[in-house]
Amino acid sequence: MANPHEIPSYLKHDALGPWGVYLEQIDRVTPYLGNLARWVETLKRPKRVLIVDVPIERDDGSIAHFEGYRVQHNTSRGPGKGGVRFHQDVTLSEVMALSAWMTVKNAAVNVPYGGAKGGIRVDPKTLSQGELQRMTRRYTSEINIIIGPNKDIPAPDVNTNEQIMAWMMDTYSMNQGSTASGVVTGKPISLGGSLGRHEATGRGVFVVGCEAASRIGMDIKGARLAVQGFGNVGAVAARLFSEAGARVVAVQDHAGTITRPAGLNVMALQAHVAVHGSVTGFPGSEELAARDQFWGVECDILVPAALEQQINESNANRIQAKLILEGANGPTTPAADDMLRDRGVLVVPDVIANAGGVTVSYFEWVQDFSSYFWTEDEINLRLTRIMREAFASVWQLAEEKKVSLRTAAFIVGCTRVLQAREMRGLYP
Ligand code: NAD
Repeated sequence: MANPHEIPSYLKHDALGPWGVYLEQIDRVTPYLGNLARWVETLKRPKRVLIVDVPIERDDGSIAHFEGYRVQHNTSRGPGKGGVRFHQDVTLSEVMALSAWMTVKNAAVNVPYGGAKGGIRVDPKTLSQGELQRMTRRYTSEINIIIGPNKDIPAPDVNTNEQIMAWMMDTYSMNQGSTASGVVTGKPISLGGSLGRHEATGRGVFVVGCEAASRIGMDIKGARLAVQGFGNVGAVAARLFSEAGARVVAVQDHAGTITRPAGLNVMALQAHVAVHGSVTGFPGSEELAARDQFWGVECDILVPAALEQQINESNANRIQAKLILEGANGPTTPAADDMLRDRGVLVVPDVIANAGGVTVSYFEWVQDFSSYFWTEDEINLRLTRIMREAFASVWQLAEEKKVSLRTAAFIVGCTRVLQAREMRGLYP
């Protein structure tokens, strides 16, 4: 007979993958959870995992199958919430970790959601627009049984955008027979999207970056910034920092790394990427020969805004920055966290640094429910206030307990989730 206490194989500590990184972070916070620690196993298991087959007819008449996922890690504090990623390296371990980080993040900034995430293992660059639409719609139909405005609300992530959200909203609405704009966030403005949502994650990175810099006596004006990932998060953060007087000295994307010690013109770089699909070949910049050289670039602030586990034991000691702002989810491994701490590098963790996106997603959802839309100034003011307050309370806790900002943010987030879990009690 099977051992009823045995941990399912897909939940076992996978030290090398994102889920393993998350479990290690939970182990590090557990000693600070007091009596709530008896519920901590809740955080080590996703509530619900759905794996779906996503078949489409290709333009040439052949049939292709993709593997899709939607994971609801925890819904103790409200419906699931988290993005959908289209990437060739998406795995269940990755989606589980991303959904769990959403649980902690949503609680850390106190928006009334649990955590969820989804993805399809596909390189969307290999699909035509028609194929992309068919795949998105079929995926939405397959996960339709667990999503909904009160159940689980997807949003954009790597390689997904407003258009994908519009197709998801339409597919869900067609299936249920009426328009349900609150089923996804990050929609186009014309379909119930929120002003400021597109920029929200990068803006949040900028806001907490300014807060962190002021606490360590660093002036943003003249600070040198290096950014990995020049998409929704990285490009907006780079633009806001450069508008505040920082110099963006290096940018890396999937295709290569460019540098310019005098500072890159971020608006012109965005226009270049829109035409060429990558930062490489940007006039006036120099291209680094090896991708790995990016980590040794002379800079004051580093913004990883691409994928997980980019900052690890192999490069943490080469990083020149004094301040790291995690625009990406899970960009730093626990071993690298320790190395950076020992060298006095301040890391503002993902669950605070990139929470601006889900915060304005929450605003969008509230606006959709009330069919009453706010001005961009209102959105940005409220976003800035929430980010500053969240950062201040995490900073204070970190000082009190003498722990890293990551552990402090996890204490705040996990405590809220487990308090909700305990108050609700176990059913039956
Ligand atoms: P995006 O698709 O808009 O951009 C991703 C960028 O990363 C692109 O510039 C791409 O070229 C680059 N990239 C991909 N692979 C790379 C690699 N191996 N090395 C260097 N660069 C690489 O995605 P995004 O929405 O900006 O998301 C980036 C990160 O931010 C992800 O970790 C995501 O989970 C996180 N995040 C996004 C949001 C959001 O609102 N979009 C919110 C919170 C966190």
